[in-house]
This record gives sequence, C-alpha cells and structure tokens, in this order.
Amino acid sequence: MTYDVVIIGGGAAGISTAASILKRNAKVSIAVVDPAQEHYYQPGWTLVGAGVFTPEQTRKAEADVMPKGVEWIRLPAINIDPVRQAITLGDGDTIAYRVLIVALGLRLAWEKIAGLPEALGRNGVTSNYRYDLAPYTYRLVRDLERGRALFSQPPMPIKCAGAPQKAMYLSCDIWRESGVLPAIDVEFHNAGAALFGVATYVPALMEYVEKYAIDLKLESNLVAVDADRGVATFERKRDGVSERIEREFDMLHVVPPQVSHDVVAKSPLAAANGFVEVDEATLRHKRYDNVFALGDAAGTSNAKTAAAARKQAPVVAVNALAALDGKPPVADYDGYGSCPLTVERGKIVLAEFGYGGKLLPSFPSWLLDGTRPTRTAWFLKERMLPPIYWQGMLKGHEWMAAPHEIGKAA
Ligand code: FAD
Repeated sequence: MTYDVVIIGGGAAGISTAASILKRNAKVSIAVVDPAQEHYYQPGWTLVGAGVFTPEQTRKAEADVMPKGVEWIRLPAINIDPVRQAITLGDGDTIAYRVLIVALGLRLAWEKIAGLPEALGRNGVTSNYRYDLAPYTYRLVRDLERGRALFSQPPMPIKCAGAPQKAMYLSCDIWRESGVLPAIDVEFHNAGAALFGVATYVPALMEYVEKYAIDLKLESNLVAVDADRGVATFERKRDGVSERIEREFDMLHVVPPQVSHDVVAKSPLAAANGFVEVDEATLRHKRYDNVFALGDAAGTSNAKTAAAARKQAPVVAVNALAALDGKPPVADYDGYGSCPLTVERGKIVLAEFGYGGKLLPSFPSWLLDGTRPTRTAWFLKERMLPPIYWQGMLKGHEWMAAPHEIGKAA
C-alpha cells in the first residue's frame, strides 16, 4: 500500500501535523503509524507531580485524538528505507510513502543510570517523566517532613529542559507552605553548566533558588542509584578531572538521559547525534527531499517542547503538501519553543525563545512579562494551554502558529 503521506508517531507533533494537512487538503491519503493506545499531554505531568492536576486530566485514548480521514496503523515502525520510500512495520509488513514525516519523539534512557530502572517507584525514587510516577512524586512530597531531597537533570538534549527544576520549585513551595522546608536539604544536580540555557531567565530563577535555599550543583551528573541504601551517585568535573560523589537521600526526583529511537538512529535519516537530520528552518531532511521531521525526534537545536511542535506542525504541513506537488518548501520555522517554569504554585516564569536563544514572547510585556514570575502565565498553563492542546493544536487549529513564508518571520 502506498500513501501520499506516512507519519511515524501519533503524539503531539504527529497528530497536529496530520490534522493540519487534512485541514488544507482532505483528499491527501495519510497513514499514522503508532502502537500507543493512549495519548498523553505530557506538559501536564509537572502539575500532576504537584497535586494540581489528576493524571487522568493528561490522558486520552489515542483513538479519540486521531483525525478523521487518517488511517491509523496500530503498530511500531521498525525500519525506515528512504531509498525505497518504505516503512517496515512491527508485524513485518511494509507500507510505502510519497512523503514521510518522522514524529516519533525520543526515548527515555532510564537504563543509562545504573540501578535506576529497578529503583523507580519505590524508596523515594520518582520522576515526573512517567505518567504512572508523577502521582508518586506528589505522594513523596506530601509525606516528606525532614531529610534530603535530590533533583537531577541529565545532559542535553532533553524534552522540556525546564521540567527538572519545575518539579523542584513546586515541591519546595509545598514544603514552604507546610512549614517543613527548613528541615529539608534540597539539592539540584544539573549535568549542565548553567541553571537554564537562556541567560535572560536565570535571574528570576536564581531568586527562587535562594528563597528555597536550594544547593545548586552544576556539572553534576547522576550516574547511579541504590534505592535500598537510599544513595545516589553523581559524577562531577572539577578542574577537568572527574570525581564521583555519593549523596544519601530521602527523596530523589530523576530526569533520565534522552536519546533518539533506534529506528531513527540506525537509519540513513540520522544525523551524527542520532536525531533526524533536517534543515532547521524548513524541517525538510538534508538529503531526502520527501522526508520531514518535527517534534522531539527532529535534530534541530530548538527547545524540545510541545510548544515547538505547535509551531512546527503547520510549517511541515505546508512544506509536505508542496513536496507532494513536486515543489520546494514554502514555509520556515524560527525555532520557537516555550518552557513555563513553575516557580511556585500560582506563578510562572514563561520562557519563550527561538534559535540562538532569541526571545520570542507571545504577549506584550505589559500583559505578560516572561522574564518575571507572573500569575497570568500560571493561568495560561493551568487553564488555557490544555484546551489549546486538545481542542486547538491536535485538531489543526493554528492558534498563533500560522506558517509564514520563508524569510518572512515576524
Ligand atoms: P511525543 O508526544 O512523545 O509522541 C511520540 C509518539 O511516537 C508516541 O505516541 C509514541 O507512541 C510514538 N512512537 C514511538 N516510537 C514509535 C515507533 N517506533 N513507531 C511508531 N510510533 C512510535 N512541552 C511544553 O511545550 N511545555 C511544557 O511545559 C512541557 N513540560 C513537560 C514536562 C514533562 C514532565 C515532560 C515529560 C514533557 C514536557 N514537555 C513540555 C515536552 C513535550 O511533552 C514534548 O516535547 C512533546 O510531547 C513532543 O511531541 P512529539 O510528538 O515529538 O513526541
């Protein structure tokens, strides 16, 4: 079977792109390949970890988000052959495409931290990066009254680079409110060299690091967890020399290293880092003109976020339609991504930026100054963004994301 468009992955990016193409041309035959029965609004998991959302608010049946008119193939893609323009499915069958869109996200590599897979979900080890564990984060935070809480951030790239510290600030806010914060040592172990990748937002975040008396450990990378002993091991660089330090903990919130799925990393589509090698602006593959990628799977330097996928989907949709007509790309993407840093319950520092860390605020600063904590940004995150995701983005409505012609970015 040959489809006009095959989309691998029916997550935030894949569903939005399918809907966006069909809104423009309902006659295009599209197959979405994804074995998942559930579709998750992952940005909501930070709020699940703080008891603000229930887990169920972040989940729908995949069948309920699949756009009408799409053929949903409920299998994984296990091989991509861009020369034959064919995808091998989990049952061994093959489908062919005229245009391929790769949108299968990234893989959470829990196994890269020794002892972590078996430690998760018990003895105080948790992660908001899993649907089933985010509620455990909240339970741990509610129950902790004294001791040491560790929060870790792995090396880049990761999806939502702010999420490791979001979990920490919200936990601290809960401890502050219940009066136990002074009895809890909070440490943030970040494998990176800066608190946040875009310097403009760091001062506002540092105010919270100080307010919550967080011990900030930069270039400190979690490498092993022993849940039975309650010990985490970090590798730190001092003057270019690596050293390992052990820290006892009562609670450990882990964010795992993140890698490209093997089906991409081992395919001809991969760049050296394993992600799909696309042009940063048009999102078209650098070597295969009828292949596009977006979302976390794309080898682009933007912040890997659902907000990025919201802006990328219309760009890929119009460029894919152009490719079906044998034409070059017509729209480009400016690298927009957004990271709502939940510094306390009720306030957010709304980081919005594009390629090179260029600030790309969606609102004038008198309405919402993203460099400061604001209640408006919290309202946006808690009340507005979930319906914008489910009812807008996944249905191909391009709220503040209409694609612009190449070179005509606002
Ligand atoms: P996903 O949404 O992960 O979807 C990938 C899909 O591909 C899945 O359905 C999967 O089943 C499928 N798939 C995987 N392998 C295969 C295969 N071999 N064959 C076929 N299908 C396959 N973003 C924000 O914008 N704001 C936030 O505040 C925010 N906070 C976050 C907090 C947390 C804790 C987490 C985990 C993420 C957060 N994000 C946030 C990031 C955001 O959720 C992701 O960037 C976004 O979901 C990426 O969309 P995607 O479609 O590329 O990947």
